[in-house]
Amino acid sequence: MSNGKVLVTGAGGFIGGHLVQYLKDKGVSEIVAVDKKPFSEWYQVHNYSENKVLDLQYLDACEESVKDGVEVVYNLAADMGGMGFIENNKALCMLSVLINTHMLEAARHAGISKFFYASSACVYNGEKQQDVNNPGLKEEDAYPALAEDGYGWEKLFSERMCRHFMEDFGITCRVARFHNVYGPFGTYDGGREKAPAAMCRKVINSKMTGDLNIEIWGDGEQTRSFMYVDDCTSGIDKIMESHIEYPINLGSAEMVSINQLVDIVEDIAGIKLNRSYNLGAPKGVRGRSSDNTLIKKELGWEPSISLREGMEKTYAWIYDQMTAKATV
Ligand code: NAD
Repeated sequence: MSNGKVLVTGAGGFIGGHLVQYLKDKGVSEIVAVDKKPFSEWYQVHNYSENKVLDLQYLDACEESVKDGVEVVYNLAADMGGMGFIENNKALCMLSVLINTHMLEAARHAGISKFFYASSACVYNGEKQQDVNNPGLKEEDAYPALAEDGYGWEKLFSERMCRHFMEDFGITCRVARFHNVYGPFGTYDGGREKAPAAMCRKVINSKMTGDLNIEIWGDGEQTRSFMYVDDCTSGIDKIMESHIEYPINLGSAEMVSINQLVDIVEDIAGIKLNRSYNLGAPKGVRGRSSDNTLIKKELGWEPSISLREGMEKTYAWIYDQMTAKATV
């Protein structure tokens, strides 16, 4: 890993906060951490990084973030959330195009040596995700393009922007398509949360209140794979250090239905709940998982932390947050 100064954007968010910690543990001595949220709303504020509040949809803020010798950029800042958020906030999601565009421009002018962009499995063609028995999405399944409306199109456009900045301006770009990342220090309520955190919250709420009913979005048979955040930060690092010049999957291949995810959380909590299914709620594609053939070939590695192991840690963290709030 280059020992130069590193910028992590979206550092007040879930994955960005973990990435700053990962890079510090890896020995990066100078880390700039930027997010638009006030520090009081960052999931993790690390005292060894230089922390800044900047709104990176503006070019001057991007220029400010890379000044004073930043050499490597990890661009994770985006307006995003789970299905409930992205289905109802398409314009906001698409406005993240300003962040990546201006970050690339600022990086180009500052002579940044390497640029990482966090893309998403939402770039994949929806027609290839209509079956719960999805064999796993391969990288070429993004085309012909029929991405998730709003959020997915922005990610696909920004991937291409990285590609052309690399081809035309010589910035080394690395792009990973994250598949559902979960873990501690992330959103678990408020409307932007994703399924693993939402299920933990609902089950913990049942334990705390004694109300044994749980609502599940859709019929619960829709499938997904979920990647624990430690696999995500290791994967970002490996991809950044690699020669992979095209967008690559970074996700778990352990596919489960939402009902199976709830089974796991119930088991961790030692509780059985009465499930009701809200068929009108946002539910996304029918089946999605990561085909890891390419990452295994390129890196000899794939995410491997089991869903059960990752969910135990996530559940424990959300449990602590909720019980602490309840006692205030
Ligand atoms: P997050 O919402 O926790 O973090 C994103 C952070 O970006 C937030 O803290 C937000 O305040 C910040 N941000 C938004 N607009 C900004 C702006 N204009 N200027 C500066 N900061 C801004 O999300 P996350 O889960 O940590 O996701 C990180 C990245 O990974 C995002 O680009 C997201 O699209 C991508 N991704 C995440 C997942 C997942 O499952 N979590 C899946 C696919 C892709």
